[in-house]
Amino acid sequence: MKPESKAMAASQTALRALRRKLPGRVLVDAESCFDASIDNLRLSFLPDAVVRVETAAEVGTALKLAYKYSIPVTARGAGSSATGSAVPLRGGWVLDLSLLTEIQIDTVSRLVTVGAGVVTAEMQAQVEAVGLFYPPDPSSKKYSTMGGNIACNAGGLRCVKYGVTRDYVLGLEGFYADGSPFKLGLALKKYVSGLNIRDLLIGSEGTLGVMTSATLKLIPKPEKRWTGMFAFKSEAAALKTVAALFEAGVNPSILEFLDRQSVTCAERYTGKSIFADCPRSSILLIEVDGRPAEVREQRVRLLEFMEGRALAHREARTDAKAEELWKVRRTCSQSMFSIADTKLNEDVVVPIQKQAELIRYTIALKKEIGLATPTFGHAGDGNLHVHIMYNRSNPEDAVKAKAGIKKLMQKVVDLGGVITGEHGVGLAKAPFLEMQHSKAEIAMMLAVKAALDPKGILNPGKIFEPFEVWDHEPVKVELPWDHR
Ligand SMILES: Cc1cc2nc3c(=O)[nH]c(=O)nc-3n(C[C@H](O)[C@H](O)[C@H](O)COP(=O)(O)OP(=O)(O)OC[C@H]3O[C@@H](n4cnc5c(N)ncnc54)[C@H](O)[C@@H]3O)c2cc1C
Repeated sequence: MKPESKAMAASQTALRALRRKLPGRVLVDAESCFDASIDNLRLSFLPDAVVRVETAAEVGTALKLAYKYSIPVTARGAGSSATGSAVPLRGGWVLDLSLLTEIQIDTVSRLVTVGAGVVTAEMQAQVEAVGLFYPPDPSSKKYSTMGGNIACNAGGLRCVKYGVTRDYVLGLEGFYADGSPFKLGLALKKYVSGLNIRDLLIGSEGTLGVMTSATLKLIPKPEKRWTGMFAFKSEAAALKTVAALFEAGVNPSILEFLDRQSVTCAERYTGKSIFADCPRSSILLIEVDGRPAEVREQRVRLLEFMEGRALAHREARTDAKAEELWKVRRTCSQSMFSIADTKLNEDVVVPIQKQAELIRYTIALKKEIGLATPTFGHAGDGNLHVHIMYNRSNPEDAVKAKAGIKKLMQKVVDLGGVITGEHGVGLAKAPFLEMQHSKAEIAMMLAVKAALDPKGILNPGKIFEPFEVWDHEPVKVELPWDHR
């Protein structure tokens, strides 16, 4: 028998065994397979089957069989990954964890234990109802699952004050590639015993193990928040202000930046100037939170600090007014499609003091490649979403965009930054891994991968193997988070 026919026969035997062990959980219909074949990168690679598990133990059962027959397995939460990390590149089985939705809150130790499929915003609402708070808030929080967040070490808006997903993970439970269970860390606030395998899994994009539940740290819910929006004559003025603001003792819970290209898109989209007296200015959107007295003090400190720096400002003391200001930021992403039909959304990070230099570079890059480079993002973390807009049907545009991304990544690394701050590597950033890490470091990563997944069945093809997004036609599909 030829090797391909042998592999095909093994995969059919494995699928039959899977159906016997997990009756009713295995879906092979075209719709289920298609839905599990894509994420927000919108490239489609079909799996052979989708395993919709209802208990943690079923994950172990599926993995044992996958390991025995060397079937590729891709864990999946909501499929909102921006990098193709959730697509089953090599086929095989998609383990859909979205039905693992148990939530247990411990108000004494201020912890929450969540199933991997719990949706971020749902957990946040439940803990806030008892006066607690889980800060990491990816913009996809209405959809993204806790398993996906941990696997990607998700960030979000509030990271500037509160940190990212990793900072809240105490314990993880799940299964290694061969189906044997792991319990890494405990529901304890302190733990330094042995090497920290738990933290290796955080941000590993489903390549080292499959998580079924996690215990997360909570903090008291801030009582009050205040939001202010500030206009600046240029991007450099706004970003230099960001650097100075921390030295002035301001402690923002959110610090977002919008460049003038993004502001222009948002203003065209809504038909309104954000600041009537200074249209098309660069913007900082700043929130402070905490106890009422702390918020009052921070507001005064911030407004004094901004005098002579900002051209104008608007503030919101109520949630409804804050929502109006937030609409500006939320409009940015969608409004960019007035420039071109395709967007490359990078999530690079540079040192806070180097952001002005990065933005000068993105403006120069716009001129050099002749494609718009609207940029906004989490300036408090140095984490900027640089977009390159191009028309997919225009082959010249695609060549320019590809060259532009490569130059951008090199510039970020030269500035002492990192190619991804929250989306992870997946497929889209894999070509740049060697720009970021030394050969020795990559070899170490591969050694860890080989130790935990010796047959290479977990999410194969991701992070470490070269992949050219450009060689694959994206599918036109409406995803739940489009038109938010
Ligand atoms: C509109 C939009 C806004 C976004 N905004 C942000 C943002 O602000 N900040 C941010 O960080 N990200 C953001 N993202 C990216 C994405 O939402 C996050 O990476 C999110 O954490 C992915 O969660 P998910 O449940 O969709 O995971 P999926 O997309 O299903 O999976 C992502 C990766 O995690 C792995 N995985 C999933 N579940 C498990 C598990 N239980 N065990 C092991 N591996 C697993 C998958 O194999 C895959 O590699 C955004 C995406 C969209 C579409």
